[in-house]
Parts: sequence; structure tokens; C-alpha cells
Amino acid sequence: MLDVGRHPNIDLLAYSEVQHIEGQAGNFKVTVRKKARYVDEDKCTGCGLCSEKCPTTVVDAFNEGLGMRRAVYAYFAQGIPSTRTIDPDHCRQLNGKKCGICQKVCQAGAIDYTQQDRLIELQVGAVIAAVGYDVFDPAQIAEYRYREIENVVTAIEFERLLSASGPTSGHVYRPSDLNAKAEIQVLEKQAAKSGRMLARFEKKYGRTSADFFMQYQAAPTDDADQEKWARVYQEDLARKERLAALNDAVKDAATAKRLAFIQCVGSRDFRFYPFCSGYCCMHSIKEAIIANEHEPQTVSTIFGMDIRAVGKGFEEYKIRGGNKSGITYVRGRVAEIIEGPGRNPVVVYEDTRTRSVKQEAFDLVILATACAPTRGIAELAATLNVALDDYGFIKTVPSAPVDTSMRGIFVCGCAGAPMDVPESVAQASSAAERAAEIIFQSDPVKEKAVA
Ligand SMILES: Cc1cc2nc3c(=O)[nH]c(=O)nc-3n(C[C@H](O)[C@H](O)[C@H](O)COP(=O)(O)OP(=O)(O)OC[C@H]3O[C@@H](n4cnc5c(N)ncnc54)[C@H](O)[C@@H]3O)c2cc1C
Ligand code: SF4
Ligand code: SF4
Repeated sequence: MLDVGRHPNIDLLAYSEVQHIEGQAGNFKVTVRKKARYVDEDKCTGCGLCSEKCPTTVVDAFNEGLGMRRAVYAYFAQGIPSTRTIDPDHCRQLNGKKCGICQKVCQAGAIDYTQQDRLIELQVGAVIAAVGYDVFDPAQIAEYRYREIENVVTAIEFERLLSASGPTSGHVYRPSDLNAKAEIQVLEKQAAKSGRMLARFEKKYGRTSADFFMQYQAAPTDDADQEKWARVYQEDLARKERLAALNDAVKDAATAKRLAFIQCVGSRDFRFYPFCSGYCCMHSIKEAIIANEHEPQTVSTIFGMDIRAVGKGFEEYKIRGGNKSGITYVRGRVAEIIEGPGRNPVVVYEDTRTRSVKQEAFDLVILATACAPTRGIAELAATLNVALDDYGFIKTVPSAPVDTSMRGIFVCGCAGAPMDVPESVAQASSAAERAAEIIFQSDPVKEKAVA
């Protein structure tokens, strides 16, 4: 990305969307909406002081909702350009409230609350759609209880847990423990506030809240002050009970060390995507190996119909995972996940090698979800006037895998079909070559020069 950002022949329009396109191969007019960041990209030094001081926290989409970010933020650490962006849905200042802290602390003078979206017109010879994919929503498979059991996560969520720059700095804590700890923090703040209120009542009436409440229960009054005291005291009791239960639940919280990976979640499944997503067997093996490198006691079981280690050295990698990184491969399709004691997900499956139905408890279950078309692909396809296939990927034919139904518009990577990074990169080069052909064909001088 850094190379792309620095390349003299590449203009990077990040945080932008193609809004309209007209013309034909060799001569397209493209209208791009460059969204307002409320931060001047040319002035921002990427120091991050604005984010540090911003008082507004928002659920962090990049970390799959497993952490929080500020209203002025960098979507992810290695993003190019390394500027910050203000989230207009959550920023206090942009929603009519008083704040302006980021503008005060920014020494580069980069914050600009008046910035507007800009429409940019480009004259281009060819277009390449490289809009990628989204992961399949596993909640559609009811028997895996993805939204019901906290310790069932998707592979992408697991990658964020494993990442040193992720919400847990690479320590694989279970979502049930993380959620309990987050709730403890909120409840402790509320308990401190109600404690101060109760102390004020006790001082005013010269008695303890417990004494008052016993008498109030026997003979309630309609005095507003006393009604409020009783309510605050009752809420405080309930909160303390919940806090005790949560503290008990997390007192022995440790990182997850027994992992289950479930393959083909939504892929090779006639209810959803009947084909293989191509990369998930390898990313499950990779994640299990990395988890074991982080914590050598970590062991993993990978449940799959078969493990598709397709590529040079991939089979060896799989075997090495089994021999050196505590991975067990189980041939079988998982029928169900239920929740057992200790918030442990229990995997119910048929081991096809022994022809027996078994169940096993794990600390964490990771779902290798199918590669699905990116959200918004239908709108983009309509804008580009290209056809989609039966599954919603941009349609191509096997003999021309980067050509779309519209001459001069090409596709590469997972926008066209599931594929891993090396294949996506190879396709990107191929699409760039096809785009160059169009440009040279429409410019006789350049064509001659090449010839
Ligand atoms: C958990 C997990 C782990 C993986 N691990 C590996 C691995 O170790 N090795 C490997 O080879 N592969 C791995 N993969 C697969 C890999 O993610 C894909 O092969 C690769 O990301 C495909 O690249 P792409 O450029 O086609 O799409 P993407 O990486 O999805 O990039 C598409 C980009 O386009 C942007 N975009 C979308 N819509 C628009 C729009 N309308 N306008 C402008 N921009 C848009 C998106 O925000 C995104 O930045 C993994 C996949 C998963 C789910
Ligand atoms: S103005 Fe908005 S982005 Fe800036 S510090 Fe305040 S809430 Fe955060
Ligand atoms: S790569 Fe593996 S997990 Fe992914 S769809 Fe293919 S067989 Fe299933």
C-alpha cells in the first residue's frame, strides 16, 4: 500500500465511492464522491493526538465490534493515507453539541468541521472493480448459535483477537470474559455514582440506607425524596448482586487454550454457496499455528469434510500444524453447537472415520465462514452496468476470468469469485494488463510505440 501511495502514476482516492459512470471502453467519464473526512489530509500528520483526547467512544467496526474507537479515528493502523477521519454519525460537534476538542489539540490545524463531500470527475480508458468480499453471516445457520453463544466467533473476529494491534493485544480472551469485564466497568461507575447519592441521603436523614429501606418497605410513604432514596438503594442492591456474579465469573478468566475450528460454514452447502471458498482451510491452519505460537499450551481441533490444502507447500504446512502446533484434524461435518458449563461451547459432530456421533467442549469455537459478495455489489454493478452471477459476484467466463459483461470494465480478486491473496494479486496484474490493452488500442500513438 505504501508503494501505491507513493507511486507517481497512481492517484489514490481513499474514502471515496464511484457514483456514476458513462462512456465506453477507452473513454469513460467517472464521477467519484470523495467523502468529507472533516480532517485535511494534506495537513494531518497522523500523530493521533485528536483520537487520544476525543471524549466519544464508538464500537470499532474494524475490530469486528470487539473493541472501541474514538469519534475521530484511523480505520486501521496501516491505512494509507495515514490521516484521521471524523465519524459524522457520532462526533458531538457535528451533531450540534459542544465539543471541538480535536480542533483545539491538533497542532497541524487539520480539523475542519465545515468540510463537504466533493464530486471529482475522471476521464479514464478502463475501470477495474476490485471491491472484494464480505464474510457470510453464520447466524443464518441456526444450529451453530453464533449470536446466542458468546464464545462462538467467526474467523475474522478470531484474527482480530490474535492480532497484536487488536483489541486484546493478541491475547485470546474469550468474548464472554471480555463482555463481563466491560459490564463490570460500567456497573462499577454506576455503583460509585449511586454510592455518592446514598451517602448524601444518609447524611441528610442521619441513618443508614439499610435501616431506612427496612422501615420504608414496612410503611411506604409518598414523599418524593424518600421514594427516590428507596429506588436508588434497590437498584444499588441489584447492581451489587450482578457485580458479585460477574466478578465470580471472571476471577479465573484465562486465555482460550482449547480451540475448535469449523470449516465450510456457508460454503460447500447447497443452502448457501455450493462451492469451496478456497482459502478458509488454510487460514484456519494458519490461525491455529499462530495461536499455538502465542501460547504453546494451545491445542486446536479442525473439523472439516476434507482439508483443502491446494497449493505448493500447503499440504506440508498442514502436516507441520498437526505435528508441531497441536492441531488435530477431524473428518466430519459439525451438526450442532450447544453451550456447556463455564460458557464453553460444545461441538456435536459425526466423526466419519469412526462412524460415531461425538461431542466435545472447547474454550472457543471459530467458524470459517464462506466468502460472500461484498455488501453494495448490486448498486455498484448497476452503476458500472456489469452483470452479476447467480451468487452475486461480478460475472465472468472461465476463458476470460477478469473480463466483465461490459467492455473496458474488468474485475479482479474476490469481487469476481473467492480466492486467496496470491491469486487476487495475480488477477490484479492480469486485469491491469487487460486495462492497458484497451488504453493502447484506443490511442494509436501509444499502440505504435508498444508495437
Ligand atoms: C479470516 C480470514 C483470513 C484470511 N487469511 C488469509 C491468508 O492468510 N492468506 C491469504 O492468502 N488469504 C487469506 N484470506 C483471504 C483474503 O482475505 C482474500 O483473498 C483477499 O482479501 C482478497 O483480496 P481482494 O482485494 O479481492 O478483496 P478485499 O481484501 O476484500 O479488498 C477489497 C477492498 O475494496 C473495498 N471496497 C468494497 N466496496 C467498495 C466500493 N464500492 N468502493 C470502493 N471500495 C470498496 C473494501 O473496503 C476493501 O478494502 C483470509 C480471509 C479471511 C476471511
Ligand atoms: S469534535 Fe467530535 S471528533 Fe472532535 S473531539 Fe469532539 S467528539 Fe471527538
Ligand atoms: S477452503 Fe476448506 S473450509 Fe473453505 S470452503 Fe473450501 S473446503 Fe470449506
